[in-house]
Amino acid sequence: MFPKSFDYVVPQSLGEALALMERHGDEAKVLAGGQSLIPLMKLRFLFPSHVIDIGRIPELHGIDERNGEIRCGAMTRHADIERSSLLCKHIPLLYAAATEIADVQVRNRGTLGGALAQADPASDWATTSLALKARFRCVSLRGERMINAGDFFKDTYTTALEDGEILTDIFFPLPHPASRAAYIKIHRRTGDFAIASVALQFTVDGAGHCQTIGLGVGGVGATPVAPADVIAFLRGKTLSDPVIEEAASMLKARLHPIEDIRGSSDYKRRIAGVAFQRAFRKAAGRDRRET
Ligand SMILES: Cc1cc2nc3c(=O)[nH]c(=O)nc-3n(C[C@H](O)[C@H](O)[C@H](O)COP(=O)(O)OP(=O)(O)OC[C@H]3O[C@@H](n4cnc5c(N)ncnc54)[C@H](O)[C@@H]3O)c2cc1C
Repeated sequence: MFPKSFDYVVPQSLGEALALMERHGDEAKVLAGGQSLIPLMKLRFLFPSHVIDIGRIPELHGIDERNGEIRCGAMTRHADIERSSLLCKHIPLLYAAATEIADVQVRNRGTLGGALAQADPASDWATTSLALKARFRCVSLRGERMINAGDFFKDTYTTALEDGEILTDIFFPLPHPASRAAYIKIHRRTGDFAIASVALQFTVDGAGHCQTIGLGVGGVGATPVAPADVIAFLRGKTLSDPVIEEAASMLKARLHPIEDIRGSSDYKRRIAGVAFQRAFRKAAGRDRRET
């Protein structure tokens, strides 16, 4: 399939890109890694008159540490995260998720910003950014705003981004050095999107009680979710197997996945419960299973 013809433009600065978006409005689409946009254009689900390639805008690139956070430019590719020693050392959950995305080809092209803006409910970055309490910097000619991951994903393929806005940076708070984390993605074949996935990060105090917890559950609803009552239930408790089992039951009761090619609603709910329990075991170093 061939896409409808379009003008391809390559701005060299963020200001230039924003001006192009303002000028062309709904007719324009931002191109990042092209791993979702190009297939959709080839299938003619999308037919923008202008494709604005943001790949050569310097400020959208780079991974660096600033004020207790790690900032990733929106054009950070999945493979950059996989290879970043800074992220691997400080936020291992990101490294764990990066290695689970698709295949090497997709990871070499696809970007963090593009995946978040695409807002696939099973996106590995959507789920992970929720667990890590990431913040997103979004810029338009009208100004800039910071949006928490928990407020960014509005519906399937729908985000809080407004017309003319570009996601420019993603900020991840540095986890406590003693925090534990795990990413469990259950899929049919390596490289597939998740049937269900769980991103988890927590700390325990000296008495072994859960102190802080970040959770993201993906693939089981219109957006990734982090049920507040499940988190509240776990806080302050010893994370023993019976406690985690009870929390998994609470979680399953909160999920309303749709039936699709990845399984029935009930199947996905059960898979999410399994992923949830495995995430805790893995983070605590008690899972001997290969994941
Ligand atoms: C075969 C295959 C397998 C895949 N498997 C997985 C998987 O297992 N897990 C997973 O999470 N993902 C998977 N993906 C998706 C992949 O991660 C893509 O990289 C991602 O969905 C889109 O990122 P991109 O950089 O390619 O964005 P693009 O395709 O370029 O853009 C996607 C959308 O976001 C908009 N956009 C892009 N960047 C910005 C920005 N900075 N600001 C505002 N809007 C923006 C574009 O206009 C477009 O609408 C897979 C993709 C393919 C092709």
